[in-house]
Amino acid sequence: MQYAAPTTVDEACSLLADNPGSRVFAGATDLVPQMRSGRSEPSAMVDLKRIDRLTSVSHADGQWTVGAATPASDLTHNAEFVGMYPGISEGAGLIGSDQIQNRSSLGGNLCNGSPAADSVPAMIASGARAVIAGAGGQRTVSVADVVTGPGRTSLADGEFIVEFEIDDAPISTGDAYLRMTPRTEMDIAVVGAAVRLTMDGDTVSSASVVLGAVAPTAVRVPDAEAALVGSRLDDETLAAVAAAASAACNPIDDKRGTVEYRTQVAGVLAKRAVVIAAERAQKEPDLHVTNTHQLHRQRRADRLLVGRLHVAARCVAR
Ligand SMILES: Cc1cc2nc3c(=O)[nH]c(=O)nc-3n(C[C@H](O)[C@H](O)[C@H](O)COP(=O)(O)OP(=O)(O)OC[C@H]3O[C@@H](n4cnc5c(N)ncnc54)[C@H](O)[C@@H]3O)c2cc1C
Repeated sequence: MQYAAPTTVDEACSLLADNPGSRVFAGATDLVPQMRSGRSEPSAMVDLKRIDRLTSVSHADGQWTVGAATPASDLTHNAEFVGMYPGISEGAGLIGSDQIQNRSSLGGNLCNGSPAADSVPAMIASGARAVIAGAGGQRTVSVADVVTGPGRTSLADGEFIVEFEIDDAPISTGDAYLRMTPRTEMDIAVVGAAVRLTMDGDTVSSASVVLGAVAPTAVRVPDAEAALVGSRLDDETLAAVAAAASAACNPIDDKRGTVEYRTQVAGVLAKRAVVIAAERAQKEPDLHVTNTHQLHRQRRADRLLVGRLHVAARCVAR
Protein backbone atom coordinates (compact mmCIF):
# COMPACT_ATOMS: atom_id res chain seq x y z
CA MET A 1 0.00 0.00 0.00
CA GLN A 2 1.22 3.48 -0.90
CA TYR A 3 1.12 6.62 1.21
CA ALA A 4 0.93 10.04 -0.42
CA ALA A 5 0.91 13.49 1.17
CA PRO A 6 -0.09 16.08 -1.43
CA THR A 7 0.26 19.76 -0.58
CA THR A 8 -2.33 21.16 -2.98
CA VAL A 9 -5.91 20.30 -3.87
CA ASP A 10 -4.94 19.79 -7.52
CA GLU A 11 -2.16 17.38 -6.57
CA ALA A 12 -4.59 15.39 -4.42
CA CYS A 13 -7.10 15.25 -7.30
CA SER A 14 -4.42 13.92 -9.68
CA LEU A 15 -3.25 11.31 -7.16
CA LEU A 16 -6.80 10.07 -6.65
CA ALA A 17 -7.49 9.99 -10.41
CA ASP A 18 -4.24 8.06 -11.06
CA ASN A 19 -4.77 5.54 -8.23
CA PRO A 20 -8.14 3.77 -8.39
CA GLY A 21 -8.96 2.22 -5.02
CA SER A 22 -7.12 4.89 -3.06
CA ARG A 23 -8.68 6.61 -0.06
CA VAL A 24 -8.25 10.06 1.40
CA PHE A 25 -7.88 10.47 5.12
CA ALA A 26 -7.49 13.23 7.68
CA GLY A 27 -7.20 11.95 11.26
CA ALA A 28 -7.60 8.29 10.20
CA THR A 29 -9.44 7.67 13.49
CA ASP A 30 -12.16 5.85 11.53
CA LEU A 31 -10.10 4.61 8.60
CA VAL A 32 -7.28 2.87 10.49
CA PRO A 33 -9.63 0.80 12.72
CA GLN A 34 -11.55 -0.15 9.56
CA MET A 35 -8.33 -1.24 7.83
CA ARG A 36 -7.22 -3.21 10.89
CA SER A 37 -10.51 -5.08 10.94
CA GLY A 38 -10.29 -5.78 7.20
CA ARG A 39 -13.31 -3.64 6.31
CA SER A 40 -11.22 -1.34 4.10
CA GLU A 41 -8.18 -2.14 1.97
CA PRO A 42 -7.14 1.00 0.09
CA SER A 43 -4.52 0.69 -2.65
CA ALA A 44 -3.09 4.05 -1.55
CA MET A 45 -3.75 6.39 1.36
CA VAL A 46 -3.88 10.07 0.50
CA ASP A 47 -3.16 12.25 3.53
CA LEU A 48 -5.14 15.51 3.34
CA LYS A 49 -3.55 17.18 6.36
CA ARG A 50 -0.59 18.63 4.45
CA ILE A 51 -2.87 20.79 2.30
CA ASP A 52 -3.09 24.21 4.00
CA ARG A 53 -6.58 24.93 2.66
CA LEU A 54 -7.89 21.74 4.28
CA THR A 55 -6.58 22.57 7.73
CA SER A 56 -7.37 26.27 8.01
CA VAL A 57 -10.32 28.02 9.61
CA SER A 58 -11.19 31.54 8.54
CA HIS A 59 -13.97 34.08 8.75
CA ALA A 60 -14.63 36.67 6.07
CA ASP A 61 -17.56 38.35 4.33
CA GLY A 62 -20.18 36.89 6.65
CA GLN A 63 -19.01 33.32 6.27
CA TRP A 64 -16.87 30.79 8.12
CA THR A 65 -14.70 28.50 6.04
CA VAL A 66 -13.57 25.38 7.87
CA GLY A 67 -11.00 23.11 6.19
CA ALA A 68 -12.39 19.59 5.98
CA ALA A 69 -9.27 18.07 7.61
CA THR A 70 -9.09 20.59 10.46
CA PRO A 71 -8.78 18.76 13.80
CA ALA A 72 -11.95 19.02 15.90
CA SER A 73 -9.92 20.57 18.73
CA ASP A 74 -8.99 23.53 16.50
CA LEU A 75 -12.69 24.35 16.40
CA THR A 76 -13.46 23.72 20.05
CA HIS A 77 -10.51 25.99 21.01
CA ASN A 78 -11.53 28.75 18.61
CA ALA A 79 -13.42 31.19 20.86
CA GLU A 80 -14.99 33.10 18.00
CA PHE A 81 -16.23 29.95 16.29
CA VAL A 82 -17.50 28.51 19.57
CA GLY A 83 -19.20 31.83 20.31
CA MET A 84 -21.08 31.82 17.05
CA TYR A 85 -21.71 28.10 16.68
CA PRO A 86 -21.83 26.52 20.14
CA GLY A 87 -23.92 23.64 18.75
CA ILE A 88 -21.39 22.64 16.07
CA SER A 89 -18.62 23.04 18.65
CA GLU A 90 -20.54 20.83 21.08
CA GLY A 91 -20.76 18.13 18.40
CA ALA A 92 -17.05 18.40 17.56
CA GLY A 93 -16.17 18.42 21.28
CA LEU A 94 -18.01 15.15 21.89
CA ILE A 95 -16.01 13.13 19.35
CA GLY A 96 -14.04 10.56 21.36
CA SER A 97 -11.39 11.96 23.68
CA ASP A 98 -8.92 14.89 23.60
CA GLN A 99 -6.48 12.67 21.69
CA ILE A 100 -9.13 11.71 19.13
CA GLN A 101 -10.21 15.35 18.75
CA ASN A 102 -6.62 16.37 18.05
CA ARG A 103 -6.74 14.13 14.97
CA SER A 104 -10.37 13.78 13.89
CA SER A 105 -11.92 16.10 11.35
CA LEU A 106 -15.41 17.21 10.37
CA GLY A 107 -14.73 15.91 6.84
CA GLY A 108 -13.94 12.45 8.21
CA ASN A 109 -16.83 12.55 10.65
CA LEU A 110 -19.23 13.30 7.78
CA CYS A 111 -17.74 11.06 5.08
CA ASN A 112 -17.39 8.04 7.33
CA GLY A 113 -21.17 7.99 6.96
CA SER A 114 -22.04 6.95 10.50
CA PRO A 115 -25.63 7.86 11.43
CA ALA A 116 -24.25 8.65 14.91
CA ALA A 117 -21.60 11.17 13.76
CA ASP A 118 -21.70 13.90 16.39
CA SER A 119 -20.75 16.96 14.33
CA VAL A 120 -23.21 16.32 11.52
CA PRO A 121 -26.68 17.21 12.94
CA ALA A 122 -25.58 20.71 14.03
CA MET A 123 -23.81 21.34 10.73
CA ILE A 124 -27.02 20.46 8.89
CA ALA A 125 -29.10 22.58 11.28
CA SER A 126 -26.82 25.53 10.49
CA GLY A 127 -27.18 25.10 6.72
CA ALA A 128 -23.49 24.24 6.24
CA ARG A 129 -22.28 23.54 2.71
CA ALA A 130 -19.48 21.22 1.58
CA VAL A 131 -17.06 22.29 -1.16
CA ILE A 132 -16.10 19.13 -3.04
CA ALA A 133 -13.10 18.75 -5.37
CA GLY A 134 -12.40 16.12 -7.98
CA ALA A 135 -10.82 15.66 -11.39
CA GLY A 136 -13.83 17.45 -12.94
CA GLY A 137 -13.40 20.60 -10.82
CA GLN A 138 -15.18 21.83 -7.71
CA ARG A 139 -18.83 21.83 -6.69
CA THR A 140 -20.70 22.91 -3.59
CA VAL A 141 -23.52 20.90 -1.99
CA SER A 142 -25.50 21.09 1.21
CA VAL A 143 -23.95 18.98 3.99
CA ALA A 144 -27.40 17.38 4.28
CA ASP A 145 -26.92 15.89 0.80
CA VAL A 146 -23.52 14.27 1.37
CA VAL A 147 -24.38 11.11 3.31
CA THR A 148 -26.78 8.76 1.52
CA GLY A 149 -26.78 5.84 3.98
CA PRO A 150 -24.59 4.12 6.58
CA GLY A 151 -21.02 4.27 5.23
CA ARG A 152 -22.18 5.77 1.91
CA THR A 153 -21.85 9.25 0.44
CA SER A 154 -22.85 11.06 -2.73
CA LEU A 155 -19.18 11.77 -3.54
CA ALA A 156 -17.95 10.25 -6.80
CA ASP A 157 -14.74 8.20 -6.98
CA GLY A 158 -11.78 10.58 -6.75
CA GLU A 159 -13.77 13.35 -5.05
CA PHE A 160 -13.14 14.69 -1.56
CA ILE A 161 -14.39 17.53 0.61
CA VAL A 162 -12.08 20.52 0.66
CA GLU A 163 -13.87 22.73 3.16
CA PHE A 164 -17.17 23.60 4.78
CA GLU A 165 -18.87 26.96 4.36
CA ILE A 166 -21.11 28.16 7.16
CA ASP A 167 -22.88 31.51 6.87
CA ASP A 168 -22.86 33.80 9.89
CA ALA A 169 -25.86 33.13 12.07
CA PRO A 170 -28.46 35.90 11.90
CA ILE A 171 -28.80 38.12 14.96
CA SER A 172 -30.77 36.52 17.84
CA THR A 173 -29.87 33.01 16.72
CA GLY A 174 -28.69 30.17 18.93
CA ASP A 175 -27.88 26.53 18.32
CA ALA A 176 -27.33 23.51 20.54
CA TYR A 177 -26.41 19.83 20.22
CA LEU A 178 -27.17 17.18 22.81
CA ARG A 179 -26.49 13.47 22.65
CA MET A 180 -27.35 10.47 24.74
CA THR A 181 -24.77 7.72 25.29
CA PRO A 182 -25.01 4.69 27.56
CA ARG A 183 -21.56 5.56 28.97
CA THR A 184 -20.50 9.06 29.92
CA GLU A 185 -17.23 8.94 27.93
CA MET A 186 -15.88 7.35 24.76
CA ASP A 187 -19.16 6.07 23.44
CA ILE A 188 -21.17 6.88 20.37
CA ALA A 189 -24.60 8.49 20.35
CA VAL A 190 -27.74 6.46 20.89
CA VAL A 191 -29.54 9.65 19.93
CA GLY A 192 -28.24 13.08 18.96
CA ALA A 193 -30.35 16.22 18.59
CA ALA A 194 -29.33 19.56 17.09
CA VAL A 195 -31.53 22.64 17.13
CA ARG A 196 -31.00 26.09 15.71
CA LEU A 197 -33.48 28.87 16.47
CA THR A 198 -33.76 32.49 15.47
CA MET A 199 -35.90 34.56 17.82
CA ASP A 200 -37.86 37.74 17.24
CA GLY A 201 -38.31 38.88 20.82
CA ASP A 202 -39.84 35.89 22.56
CA THR A 203 -41.24 34.41 19.35
CA VAL A 204 -39.42 31.87 17.20
CA SER A 205 -38.99 33.21 13.66
CA SER A 206 -36.96 30.35 12.19
CA ALA A 207 -36.11 26.82 13.35
CA SER A 208 -34.05 23.79 12.29
CA VAL A 209 -34.29 20.49 14.11
CA VAL A 210 -32.00 17.60 13.11
CA LEU A 211 -31.64 14.19 14.76
CA GLY A 212 -28.69 11.79 14.60
CA ALA A 213 -28.41 8.05 15.29
CA VAL A 214 -32.12 7.36 14.86
CA ALA A 215 -32.21 6.62 11.10
CA PRO A 216 -29.77 5.56 8.35
CA THR A 217 -28.72 9.21 7.97
CA ALA A 218 -29.19 12.35 10.07
CA VAL A 219 -32.82 13.45 9.69
CA ARG A 220 -34.46 16.84 9.66
CA VAL A 221 -37.75 17.10 11.51
CA PRO A 222 -39.98 19.50 9.51
CA ASP A 223 -43.00 18.94 11.78
CA ALA A 224 -41.00 20.06 14.82
CA GLU A 225 -39.73 23.11 12.90
CA ALA A 226 -43.31 24.00 11.87
CA ALA A 227 -44.48 23.70 15.49
CA LEU A 228 -41.69 26.02 16.63
CA VAL A 229 -42.00 28.84 14.09
CA GLY A 230 -44.38 31.51 15.39
CA SER A 231 -44.48 29.96 18.86
CA ARG A 232 -43.39 31.40 22.19
CA LEU A 233 -41.99 28.06 23.27
CA ASP A 234 -44.87 27.24 25.58
CA ASP A 235 -45.35 23.75 26.97
CA GLU A 236 -47.71 22.80 24.17
CA THR A 237 -45.07 23.68 21.54
CA LEU A 238 -42.36 21.73 23.36
CA ALA A 239 -44.68 18.71 23.56
CA ALA A 240 -45.33 19.02 19.80
CA VAL A 241 -41.55 19.17 19.16
CA ALA A 242 -41.00 16.03 21.23
CA ALA A 243 -43.84 14.18 19.47
CA ALA A 244 -42.57 15.19 16.01
CA ALA A 245 -38.99 14.18 16.86
CA SER A 246 -40.11 10.77 18.11
CA ALA A 247 -42.29 10.29 15.02
CA ALA A 248 -39.33 11.08 12.72
CA CYS A 249 -37.26 8.21 14.16
CA ASN A 250 -36.55 5.03 12.23
CA PRO A 251 -33.84 3.61 14.49
CA ILE A 252 -32.04 0.30 14.80
CA ASP A 253 -32.41 -1.97 17.80
CA ASP A 254 -29.00 -2.82 19.28
CA LYS A 255 -27.11 -3.33 22.53
CA ARG A 256 -26.92 0.45 23.01
CA GLY A 257 -30.65 1.05 22.87
CA THR A 258 -33.95 -0.41 21.75
CA VAL A 259 -36.16 1.19 19.12
CA GLU A 260 -38.58 2.31 21.87
CA TYR A 261 -35.78 3.82 23.96
CA ARG A 262 -34.20 5.74 21.07
CA THR A 263 -37.61 6.98 19.94
CA GLN A 264 -38.51 8.31 23.36
CA VAL A 265 -35.08 9.82 24.03
CA ALA A 266 -35.17 11.62 20.66
CA GLY A 267 -38.25 13.53 21.81
CA VAL A 268 -36.71 14.42 25.16
CA LEU A 269 -33.37 15.57 23.67
CA ALA A 270 -35.03 17.62 20.92
CA LYS A 271 -37.11 19.43 23.51
CA ARG A 272 -34.09 20.12 25.75
CA ALA A 273 -31.99 21.31 22.79
CA VAL A 274 -34.78 23.74 21.85
CA VAL A 275 -34.67 25.28 25.33
CA ILE A 276 -30.85 25.69 25.23
CA ALA A 277 -30.86 27.11 21.69
CA ALA A 278 -33.57 29.61 22.67
CA GLU A 279 -31.62 30.74 25.75
CA ARG A 280 -28.55 31.28 23.59
CA ALA A 281 -30.57 33.14 20.94
CA GLN A 282 -32.10 35.45 23.53
CA LYS A 283 -28.74 36.45 24.99
CA GLU A 284 -28.39 39.08 22.27
CA PRO A 285 -28.31 42.33 24.21
CA ASP A 286 -27.02 45.03 21.87
CA LEU A 287 -29.10 46.41 19.03
CA HIS A 288 -26.07 48.20 17.55
CA VAL A 289 -24.36 44.92 16.80
CA THR A 290 -25.11 43.90 13.24
CA ASN A 291 -23.95 40.31 13.24
CA THR A 292 -23.09 37.63 15.71
CA HIS A 293 -19.38 37.76 14.87
CA GLN A 294 -19.31 41.36 16.11
CA LEU A 295 -21.58 40.38 18.95
CA HIS A 296 -19.21 37.74 20.26
CA ARG A 297 -16.29 40.13 19.97
CA GLN A 298 -18.28 42.61 21.98
CA ARG A 299 -19.22 40.02 24.59
CA ARG A 300 -15.54 39.19 25.10
CA ALA A 301 -14.74 42.90 25.42
CA ASP A 302 -17.59 43.21 27.96
CA ARG A 303 -16.24 40.28 29.96
CA LEU A 304 -12.74 41.81 29.95
CA LEU A 305 -14.16 45.12 31.12
CA VAL A 306 -16.13 43.44 33.91
CA GLY A 307 -12.96 41.59 34.97
CA ARG A 308 -10.97 44.83 35.04
CA LEU A 309 -13.70 46.54 37.08
CA HIS A 310 -13.59 43.68 39.62
CA VAL A 311 -9.80 44.04 39.90
CA ALA A 312 -10.11 47.83 40.27
CA ALA A 313 -12.82 47.40 42.92
CA ARG A 314 -10.60 44.97 44.90
CA CYS A 315 -7.67 47.44 44.71
CA VAL A 316 -9.89 50.25 45.97
CA ALA A 317 -11.22 48.01 48.79
CA ARG A 318 -7.66 47.25 49.90
C1 LIG B 1 -11.82 5.85 20.35
C2 LIG B 1 -12.73 6.51 19.35
C3 LIG B 1 -13.82 7.24 19.80
C4 LIG B 1 -14.68 7.85 18.91
N1 LIG B 1 -15.75 8.55 19.38
C5 LIG B 1 -16.58 9.19 18.51
C6 LIG B 1 -17.68 9.94 19.00
O1 LIG B 1 -17.92 10.07 20.20
N2 LIG B 1 -18.47 10.57 18.08
C7 LIG B 1 -18.25 10.47 16.74
O2 LIG B 1 -18.99 11.07 15.96
N3 LIG B 1 -17.21 9.74 16.26
C8 LIG B 1 -16.38 9.11 17.10
N4 LIG B 1 -15.31 8.37 16.62
C9 LIG B 1 -15.13 8.22 15.19
C10 LIG B 1 -14.12 9.21 14.55
O3 LIG B 1 -13.16 9.66 15.48
C11 LIG B 1 -14.86 10.42 13.95
O4 LIG B 1 -15.81 10.01 13.01
C12 LIG B 1 -13.88 11.41 13.30
O5 LIG B 1 -14.49 12.67 13.14
C13 LIG B 1 -13.35 10.94 11.96
O6 LIG B 1 -12.47 11.93 11.48
P1 LIG B 1 -11.07 11.52 10.83
O7 LIG B 1 -10.48 12.75 10.29
O8 LIG B 1 -10.25 10.74 11.77
O9 LIG B 1 -11.60 10.57 9.65
P2 LIG B 1 -10.74 9.53 8.80
O10 LIG B 1 -10.62 8.26 9.56
O11 LIG B 1 -9.51 10.17 8.28
O12 LIG B 1 -11.75 9.30 7.57
C14 LIG B 1 -13.00 8.71 7.81
C15 LIG B 1 -13.67 8.43 6.45
O13 LIG B 1 -13.95 9.66 5.80
C16 LIG B 1 -13.20 9.75 4.56
N5 LIG B 1 -12.71 11.12 4.51
C17 LIG B 1 -11.93 11.74 5.44
N6 LIG B 1 -11.77 13.02 5.10
C18 LIG B 1 -12.45 13.21 3.95
C19 LIG B 1 -12.65 14.34 3.08
N7 LIG B 1 -12.14 15.54 3.35
N8 LIG B 1 -13.40 14.17 1.96
C20 LIG B 1 -13.95 12.96 1.68
N9 LIG B 1 -13.79 11.87 2.44
C21 LIG B 1 -13.05 12.00 3.57
C22 LIG B 1 -12.11 8.70 4.64
O14 LIG B 1 -11.74 8.20 3.36
C23 LIG B 1 -12.80 7.64 5.49
O15 LIG B 1 -13.65 6.87 4.70
C24 LIG B 1 -14.43 7.74 17.51
C25 LIG B 1 -13.32 7.02 17.05
C26 LIG B 1 -12.47 6.42 17.95
C27 LIG B 1 -11.27 5.65 17.44
